This record gives sequence, C-alpha cells and structure tokens, in this order.
Amino acid sequence: MARYRGSVCRLCRRENLKLFLKGDRCYSDKCAFDRRSYPPGQHGQRRRGKISDYGIQLREKQKVKRMYGLSEKQFHLFFQRSDRQKGITGTNLLILLERRLDNVVYRLGFVNSRTQGRHFVRHSHFFVNGRKVNIPSYLIKKGDVITVREKSRNIQALGDALDAVVRRGVPQWLDLEKENLQGTVKDLPVREDLTMPMQEQLIVELYSK
Ligand code: SF4
Repeated sequence: MARYRGSVCRLCRRENLKLFLKGDRCYSDKCAFDRRSYPPGQHGQRRRGKISDYGIQLREKQKVKRMYGLSEKQFHLFFQRSDRQKGITGTNLLILLERRLDNVVYRLGFVNSRTQGRHFVRHSHFFVNGRKVNIPSYLIKKGDVITVREKSRNIQALGDALDAVVRRGVPQWLDLEKENLQGTVKDLPVREDLTMPMQEQLIVELYSK
C-alpha cells in the first residue's frame, strides 16, 4: 500500500485528536488542530450525523495506525501477531506497537517524531546492544541498550530533539542517559504506560468481523 504523502495535520483533524506527528510544531501555536479542530475538507464544518458502530471501530483503528505511522498491511500484521499471543489481543497490539524501535527512539527523545525515528533507524544511526539495527519494526526487549552511532552524535536534529524531550518526558519503562546518548529498556511497557486515548477493543472488534 502506498505511503501517505499528504498533510499529516489533516490526519489529526480527521481523528479529532492531536496525534503529535510533527515534532516541535505540535507544541507550538502553529498546530493546525489547535487552530482548526474540525475535520478537513469542504464539508468539515458540517454537523456530523450519527456514526455507525463500524464507523466508530474504523476511526479507532485509523487513529492508532496513524499515530504509529503504519500502513494498513503493516498494522494488520501486527494485529495478527498480537492475536497469536497469550493475553488480551488489544493490549498485546498496543504493547507490540510501543516496542517498535522507531517508537522507542522517539520515546527516548533521540528524534522529534516517529516518522523521523523511522528515517533515522533506516539510515543506521542507532545501535541496539552494540549492533547496528536499521529495521524500524525491530521489537526491543527488556534490558536492551540503544545508543546513537558514534559518527551520528553531532547531528543537529538529535541534539534539538533531546533538548525538546524535557517537554514530553521519557516514559518510566525507559531510562535515558542524555550525556552518553544512550537509552535502556528497564522493563517492557504495560497498558498503563500508554496515556494517549485509545480503545483497543474497538480495533479487535473491527478485525473480528
Ligand atoms: Fe497534529 Fe502536530 Fe499537526 Fe498539530 S502540528 S495537527 S498535533 S501533526
């Protein structure tokens, strides 16, 4: 499936939620959602009619998928994987998404957004346990140590992102050593660590139809 190349701010306005897809801009008064918090398009300001159950489930799936920047195919593969695991499928899904390397480098503050995280991972700017990993969907494990490659340490964007991470904070399941440009996975994330509003059971219901 083709990658979405349009305005990502439209996605926030469509999902009626700030998805924080644009780094610093999301925290500034330039945020499109703060300025126009109605759906994009010609009919965006029309009164919304009643949404069907299917529509509600679809919007929830789209919201989470867009938050993590995945295509439909990638997202569905993650769902299938979570469905095969023990436990609650919806929770498994969110935990798996959270464990992606592009998300973890974002959470640690090495980058300003997951999109930038994916880009930097693909360009081999990070090592996991001393080994180069350039796969954005790589799933981190408890105890993994993520470091910025020696040659990449002077990249301006990395420094800027680390300065900005103070604003959103590093989650408690991760430990950031800012001076060493190193992060450790203290524990795997649990559902309570994910604070964005997500109703994962609606995604499970959608895919179970
Ligand atoms: Fe969403 Fe960020 Fe754009 Fe605001 S600036 S609409 S939070 S992507």
